[in-house]
Amino acid sequence: MKVIVVGSSHGGYETVRGILADQPDAEIQWYEKGDFLSFLSCGMQLYLEGVVKDVNAVSYATPAGMSAQGVHVYVEQEITKIDPTHHTVHVVNHGNHVERDESYDKLVLSVGAVPFDLPVPGHDLKNIYAMRGRDWAIKLKAKTVDPTVKNVVVIGSGYIGIEAAEIFAKAGKQVTIVDMLPRLLSLYLDEEFTTTLTKELAAHGVQAAVGQGVKAFNGQDGHVISVSTEKGTFPADLVVSAAGIQANTEMLKGVVDLDDHGLIKTNDYLQTSNPDIYAVGDATLVPFAPNGRTNRIALATNARRQGRIAAKNLLGTKMAMPAVSGSSALSVFDYHFASTGVKAGTAEKLGVTCASVLVTDTVRPAFVPADAGNAKVWFKLTYDPKDGRILGAQIMSKVDVTANINTISLAIQAKLTVADLAYADFFFQPGYDRPWNIMNVAAQKAVKALE
Ligand code: FAD
Repeated sequence: MKVIVVGSSHGGYETVRGILADQPDAEIQWYEKGDFLSFLSCGMQLYLEGVVKDVNAVSYATPAGMSAQGVHVYVEQEITKIDPTHHTVHVVNHGNHVERDESYDKLVLSVGAVPFDLPVPGHDLKNIYAMRGRDWAIKLKAKTVDPTVKNVVVIGSGYIGIEAAEIFAKAGKQVTIVDMLPRLLSLYLDEEFTTTLTKELAAHGVQAAVGQGVKAFNGQDGHVISVSTEKGTFPADLVVSAAGIQANTEMLKGVVDLDDHGLIKTNDYLQTSNPDIYAVGDATLVPFAPNGRTNRIALATNARRQGRIAAKNLLGTKMAMPAVSGSSALSVFDYHFASTGVKAGTAEKLGVTCASVLVTDTVRPAFVPADAGNAKVWFKLTYDPKDGRILGAQIMSKVDVTANINTISLAIQAKLTVADLAYADFFFQPGYDRPWNIMNVAAQKAVKALE
């Protein structure tokens, strides 16, 4: 069996690992068009804040390490065409400019996504950066220590934009986050959470310019100097554009079925419309547990899960991709937060009717002092008002209680209801928790609301 894997980030890496684990003697060719194998953008913040010192350490694989396991690794080699009829790909070697065709039995595409380029005047000015991949990581790092950069405008307040804002605020820059949506992080958290986080950001010098879209990047001598929205103009020595991503699927048009946004459609076994071509990662649609439909959820966790499952299927072990809920966590200065599934603010767009309960409390019993690790916690549980089925949750505190969200993610996947959660068995020890875990408390409140 000869398998070609395209792309060396999370999805490609996990596919290769999966094949190695289940069929070590399979012939694997692994292609990366960039000049570095398996850079993981998730680790970028740690590098940019100086926690991880070496940009090359932000990776799980090296060509030598993978070659030693029998994988044929091709870096700086791009798959530019696929001929599904003859089971071949066209390879362009950017190192020596030689081109060739390679045959495959099975092909796995983990081609990922590229940052969305805002189509407004001035978008091609210098010092408008993206935050994805090793090349941008190196460029951004230089800007964190560049004394001529005083004002940074971040476009987009998803988790990447928030990470960028925090990085540059910690580097001593004045930061403004522009977002066309009415609140920061509004696709991740409801207002009860974002109000506090917006204040936390402001306290660290990060201003929110929300409810306004970018109209133009203004320049001088070819460099960006400000960003104009319909509500104002913000000075900018550097712009970090984190306004979404675009599936990297141009070359797949006419090869496999794509949706209107260019995302690859797969079946439950991660086969594309061409059964010998599998697809995983940010370029694909994933099954979304709360509403049973497919959705775009660009997370490494999904790419990893898909990579492992694609490997099993292409080797002949049938395994369906489980539905996921888009669970994610992040910190904003002193606050830790996490969310999963449906929020009140995203329900309508997802076509879901929901109800929610909010519980605020302390993480540990009231007698535990703050300096022993006690703090306020916010927890919001979202459920179906018809039958109490759990649809989502959000949590936030200065104590790290984000792992609760994994429990809720599992509850969504298992189609549990608030009644199941209300008296579920969670531990108590005052050094960690309260006699009733906050998930029990919220679910009991929801059960009462449903009576
Ligand atoms: P990508 O990461 O997009 O990589 C695709 C790779 O394929 C690239 O290396 C590209 O050069 C290569 N390639 C593309 N086309 C070809 C071709 N034709 N030939 C050869 N090579 C090709 N997710 C989380 O779950 N948790 C986090 O904390 C988190 N933090 C993040 C922070 C940042 C700043 C960013 C940008 C993303 C973060 N993510 C996080 C998301 C996560 O990085 C992505 O979901 C994940 O990288 C997707 O992996 P992928 O394999 O689909 O593709």
